[in-house]
Amino acid sequence: DKKKLIDTLELQKTLTKEEFIELLTGFTDEDAEYIRQKAVKNALQYFDNKIYTRGLIEFTNYCKNDCYYCGIRKSNTKVTRYRLTKEDILQCCKQGYELGFRTFVLQGGEDLRYSDDELADIISTIKAGYPDCAITLSIGEKSYESYLAYFKAGADRYLLRHETANQEHYGKLHPDSLSLENRKQCLRNLKDIGYQVGTGFMVGSPYQTAEYLAEDLLFIKELSPAMIGIGPYLPHHDTPFADMEKGSMELTLYLISILRLMVPNALIPATTALGTIHPLGREKGVLSGANVVMPNLSPVTVRKKYELYDNKICTGDEAAECKVCLQNRMKKVGYEIISARGDFVPIEG
Ligand code: SAM
Repeated sequence: DKKKLIDTLELQKTLTKEEFIELLTGFTDEDAEYIRQKAVKNALQYFDNKIYTRGLIEFTNYCKNDCYYCGIRKSNTKVTRYRLTKEDILQCCKQGYELGFRTFVLQGGEDLRYSDDELADIISTIKAGYPDCAITLSIGEKSYESYLAYFKAGADRYLLRHETANQEHYGKLHPDSLSLENRKQCLRNLKDIGYQVGTGFMVGSPYQTAEYLAEDLLFIKELSPAMIGIGPYLPHHDTPFADMEKGSMELTLYLISILRLMVPNALIPATTALGTIHPLGREKGVLSGANVVMPNLSPVTVRKKYELYDNKICTGDEAAECKVCLQNRMKKVGYEIISARGDFVPIEG
C-alpha cells in the first residue's frame, strides 16, 4: 500500500531502497494526489505561499564535455557558440536587480576560456555592486582550489546535479572522461568549503530505472543538499540520444513531492524543463511542492543558443516579460513570487 509508505516517508523523511522502488513503481493518480497534498502542506509550513526567484544568466554555451543527452555538448558542431563578457554579465545583473532579483545564477558549459581569476573577478564585481544579492554558480566540475577561489570571491551557492547516482547508468549517459566518483567528490568539496549546494537529476533519462531513482533519492538523503533540481529529460535533435523517449511529467511531479517530504526545507525549483514538457508544468511543480522559479536573465540575442533540449521555453522573451509572466502564473495558483535572497535555512535541532 503506497499510502502507508508515503505516511512513513513523511514521518521518517526516508525509506529503504526497496521501499523507494515500491513507491516509484505503478503508482496511481490517487497515490500521486495523496503525496502531492502532503508535499504542499510541508512546503506551506516552511515557506508559506511564497516562491523564491533566481535570475538565470546562461553566460557561455562552450563546453569541453560531451554528455550524450545535452544539446550544447562539444561534439554538436551545429551550435552557434557564444560567451558573455564581464560587461554583458553585469548588464544582466543590473537589469535583474531592477526587476527585483536578489539571486543571480551564473550557469554555463564547462568553458576553459574563463580563467579562475577572471571568474573570481566577475563574482567579486557583482558582489561589490549588489552586496545584498546571492550568487549561485553552475559551471560544472572544477578543482577544490577553483571552488575555494570562487567562494572567497563571494559566490554563495553552487548547483551541480549528480545526474544519476548509479555508476553503470552514469557511464551510459557520459563519455569515459567523466566519472560519478569525481562528480560526488565535487559535491563533497563544495559542501566542505561552505557553499549552499544543489544537486539533482533528470527524470526519465535514457536507461533510468526505478532502482536507479531509488539510488538517486538515497544519495540525496545522504548528501542533504540545500537545493534539489529535477526536471524531465527532453531530447535534443543533434545528440546521440535524439531518438530517446522523453521523461514523464507525472513522474517528475511525483518525485518533487517525494523530495519535499524527504527534505522539507529544501529549495526545490519548478524547472524550465518542466515548463517545456507542459504549458502549466511550473505551476504543477509548485502545486507538487516546489518553491523556487528561475526566470531567464540572459540577453535575448543568445537565448536560443543555450538549447539543452528541443523547444526550450522563454527563448524569445525579455527578462522583464519572463518575470511578469511567472508572477501572473504563480498568482493564478495562489502563490506569490518574492524578492528575498531565499537562502537555505537549516532545521533547528
Ligand atoms: N555544465 C554545468 C553542469 O554540468 O553542471 C551546468 C550546465 S548543464 C547544461 C545544466 C543541467 O542541464 C544538467 O545538469 C542537466 O541535468 C540538464 N540537461 C542537459 N541536457 C538536458 C536534456 N536534454 N534534458 C533535460 N535536462 C538537460
